[in-house]
Amino acid sequence: MSGAILQLQDVCERREVTDSADVVIVGTGAAGATAARVLTEAGLDVILVEEGEHVPTAELRSDMLASFRRLWRDMGFQVAEGRAFTPILQGRCVGGTTAINGAIIHRLPEVIHQLWCRDHGAGDFLPYAKLQRVYDQLDEELAVGAAPEAILGGNNRLMRAGIEACGWQGNLIRRNVRGCEGTSHCNQGCPNARRQSMNNSYVPRAVASGARVYATCRAEGLLRERGRAAGVVGRFRLPLGGPPGPRLRVHARRAVIVAASAIQTPLLLARAGVGGSSGLLGQRLQAHPGGAIMGLFDEPVRPWFGATQGYESTHFWPERMKFEAVSMPLELGAARLPGIGPALMRQLGAYGHVATWGVQVRARAHGSVRPGLFGGTSIRYDMTDEDVRTLKLGLRRVSEAMFAAGARELLPGIHGLPERITSLDGLAALESLPDDPRRFHCIAAHLFGTAVMGTDPRGSVVAPDGSVHGLPGLYVADSSPFPTNFGVNPQHTICAYAWLVAERLAGG
Ligand SMILES: Cc1cc2nc3c(=O)[nH]c(=O)nc-3n(C[C@H](O)[C@H](O)[C@H](O)COP(=O)(O)OP(=O)(O)OC[C@H]3O[C@@H](n4cnc5c(N)ncnc54)[C@H](O)[C@@H]3O)c2cc1C
Repeated sequence: MSGAILQLQDVCERREVTDSADVVIVGTGAAGATAARVLTEAGLDVILVEEGEHVPTAELRSDMLASFRRLWRDMGFQVAEGRAFTPILQGRCVGGTTAINGAIIHRLPEVIHQLWCRDHGAGDFLPYAKLQRVYDQLDEELAVGAAPEAILGGNNRLMRAGIEACGWQGNLIRRNVRGCEGTSHCNQGCPNARRQSMNNSYVPRAVASGARVYATCRAEGLLRERGRAAGVVGRFRLPLGGPPGPRLRVHARRAVIVAASAIQTPLLLARAGVGGSSGLLGQRLQAHPGGAIMGLFDEPVRPWFGATQGYESTHFWPERMKFEAVSMPLELGAARLPGIGPALMRQLGAYGHVATWGVQVRARAHGSVRPGLFGGTSIRYDMTDEDVRTLKLGLRRVSEAMFAAGARELLPGIHGLPERITSLDGLAALESLPDDPRRFHCIAAHLFGTAVMGTDPRGSVVAPDGSVHGLPGLYVADSSPFPTNFGVNPQHTICAYAWLVAERLAGG
């Protein structure tokens, strides 16, 4: 039996939409779609509830404004408050953040896995060998492989040259893309549906096996029956406002899985009054905040061609930093370029010679997320001084690699440094800058820890198998249970965790 994707325009004549399935899943991103893939193919009937729109590939646009409106949460304006405002970037559409991400695939580092086993009891549910088995299958189904030479483009090639010249270890990024055409449009939604993000892989696969997806429908609460989670209630509405559509009421015969991300999952649980007894729900928010350096080269970089992110270095992972090439669309790049008026126009004219490389920090900071006013979200996150020092060191090293690759000048975009730097000596001031996050343009896109796992309900929100302490039948399958961040890109580990949560639920 084939399922369907229904959204506001398909149901707006109705007062209420009702349905039932074995399992109801909230969210269609890395976690939700993977759980649906496993459950449907184990023969279970599945419903997915998704707040964002279903945007078919033919409707994707190359400009960032259109992408922000239809694919990104709050048009990219969601921020955490702290000493600095840190943009917390997420997708909000069918496919979740995987529909706008850089397609970088990594596995959980073994030392982090050992930590999770030692301190959080993850070992029985998540043995390392089992994780590897799931990663292998994900690799095969999602076409994971190293970025091919032909679509590297200037930004990635120059980073390789710079990292090699510095004598550091680096590699072509392993990505989940089938036949990448190097359009450098990952953040706007892949225009050729090559990236195997969830909207191009596990969502359609689950629908083909009978799953129903209710998109443009925000889950607002949980149904309970006889002391168990028994379904989800929600409301259809276009994500950027407009009149509310019908209510949704879906019953779950076996379980409800919340897979709404490490920001929205604790909010839904808090609003439903579950998971709060340890006092840790919404606490311990961890991230990989990151900044970037731009470099101007004599040779053409043409950042509009190539894998958006095709080269990386984990050489300094033990020092809590990772470097990645990232091709930014002109509209985003422009926000970081120095100057105004004619000077800015000249700089924009030279954008074809600009390379951008990022530093991602495995930060020590813990933040929090809780329901805000008028149904909103209140996020607090502040890099520690030590995190800022790590970032500064990372930016310095990336700058070194840029000069080693032949950059004529750097455009650091750091408050307190000159707009342009032409030699490493010019970076000396970076070290003496105060350890203040307000001086840097940082974003956070990898999020963890807000419904932490553990075997003792007094010190955790969910058990290692994702079951929420205190409400049978309710599971969390995204990165909220992850006890720590891990310094590499998380999508594959989120998929693997959701896979195992779903597999156990299905009785596998
Ligand atoms: C720009 C960017 C680039 C990135 N690049 C990479 C990368 O290259 N590699 C990598 O590993 N990671 C990357 N990430 C991070 C990665 O994409 C996320 O960690 C991952 O997608 C999170 O999976 P998830 O299932 O927890 O949440 P998401 O994928 O965000 O999915 C959650 C879904 O739940 C929906 N939802 C939330 N609340 C509700 C509700 N109340 N009712 C209904 N639906 C709801 C959301 O709309 C969303 O669609 C990137 C992130 C960003 C922002």
